[in-house]
Amino acid sequence: MDKKMLCQVSGSLRDVYKAIDKNGKGIAFLVDENNTLAGVMTDGDIRRLLLNGCGLNEKICNHIRKEFIFARDDEDPETIRNKFSDKVKIIPVVNKKKQVVQYYEFNSKIHIPIAQPQLNGNEYEYLQDAFLSTWISSSGKYISKFEENFSRYCGARFGVAVSNGTVALHLALVSLGIGAQDEVIVPDITFAATINAVLYTGATPVIVDIEEDGWCIDPDEIEKAITQKTKAIIPVHIYGQPCNMEKICAIAEKYNLKIIEDCAEAHGAEYCGKKVGTFGDIGCFSFFGNKVITTGEGGMCITNNEELHDKMRVLKDHGMKKDRKYYHEVIGFNYRMTNLQAAIGVAQVEKITDVLRWRDELENMYCQKLKGIDGLILQRRDLLNRKKITWLITVLTSPEMREKCFESLTKAGIDVRPFFIPLSEMEIYKPYVFSSKISSKISKMGFNLPTSSEIDSKVVDKIANILSDCLKNRSKNNGEISI
Ligand SMILES: *Cc1c(COP(=O)(O)O)cnc(C)c1O
Repeated sequence: MDKKMLCQVSGSLRDVYKAIDKNGKGIAFLVDENNTLAGVMTDGDIRRLLLNGCGLNEKICNHIRKEFIFARDDEDPETIRNKFSDKVKIIPVVNKKKQVVQYYEFNSKIHIPIAQPQLNGNEYEYLQDAFLSTWISSSGKYISKFEENFSRYCGARFGVAVSNGTVALHLALVSLGIGAQDEVIVPDITFAATINAVLYTGATPVIVDIEEDGWCIDPDEIEKAITQKTKAIIPVHIYGQPCNMEKICAIAEKYNLKIIEDCAEAHGAEYCGKKVGTFGDIGCFSFFGNKVITTGEGGMCITNNEELHDKMRVLKDHGMKKDRKYYHEVIGFNYRMTNLQAAIGVAQVEKITDVLRWRDELENMYCQKLKGIDGLILQRRDLLNRKKITWLITVLTSPEMREKCFESLTKAGIDVRPFFIPLSEMEIYKPYVFSSKISSKISKMGFNLPTSSEIDSKVVDKIANILSDCLKNRSKNNGEISI
């Protein structure tokens, strides 16, 4: 407890005045010699007493207010939050003996981040264990444990942990023999890492349009874009939504193409009851700080193909032969993950089911409160055979209204993100565009709302009210949306 907040109730108004002056908070908590709370006094209280003719030497006890607001240390946050008002910004907190133990201060600059890692399981314990073992580099028990546990969770035979999601994609492409002369089909809506990984190999990316309902790569556009040179497809399960894997797998089989799934935003999502990452030759995951589970930075390639698994293992570790130290038979990379990152990963995988359930409930809450708002379209959760997971909450509105919503939400301290800018709209990727009609329309309408663990029904209510106010005022012609 900050002593500067306290003032002995046996003292004079001058003592309170001094305490308030020192702590700079405009309030002092009045306590007896046992630190028991007797009342509070604000700078306003003192000013009023002085105006009424009181002197600073008068005893506090003659002027103490009978009623004042305080909280007990066993009250739940919701109850405590309700005690704050325009007038009450600082509240003393007492224990069972009514002794002051701390205080809560209302922070008008609330900030709800777009995403937040949840590190409340065994993360710290395992990290400490890895640290104390001195195995802090890329050997150690947590690496293989993380690979085993995460690949088993996904339903794949093998997992290869790597430094991040981008190099997971690159490693997958190289292992499948993709290089110069080859073409690889990617969706227009994705994070740039997807296309960059293709470019690193020297292959030519081919950007195709997305589906209107799922926002994932459009299988019909894939088929149209196939040429003699096409070697692979990278379906991206965007914003937690699984791609139409039935159609994509059928196309890949028909034209003898490889499939590398970009699962960076869809850990645990399912198509026909099977987890993403297990449909293609290799599934690539990211464990960046804002993803569903995280290792800070990190990634993994999963596969059911033993030969590909062995190849990836060699390539990620400088291309060194497994049975002959310092003999390199291929040009490899250093794409290793550290044991420290893997330690966090093991703890994250332990609770992935709970995390996904919590995220699902949060999306339910958002849906309930946002579904009645005219002019707002929620991400589809009802597409045939697809079980999406919640990464970021994603909604669409008209481009004009999107700007207004952004402004109001940001002003209220709520972090928002625009939809990914289509690859086709960036100069460096323009030479690779095949089709982009729907993606350019939807990207201007979409934005993400936060999924951090700080969000409760009150925050969702607040977000819903802000959006509802914004969209109520839209004029008929610029506010109409249709997709
Ligand atoms: C985050 C992300 C990646 C890249 O992952 P990093 O771990 O940041 O390298 C790749 N693809 C998609 C779709 C992503 O969202």
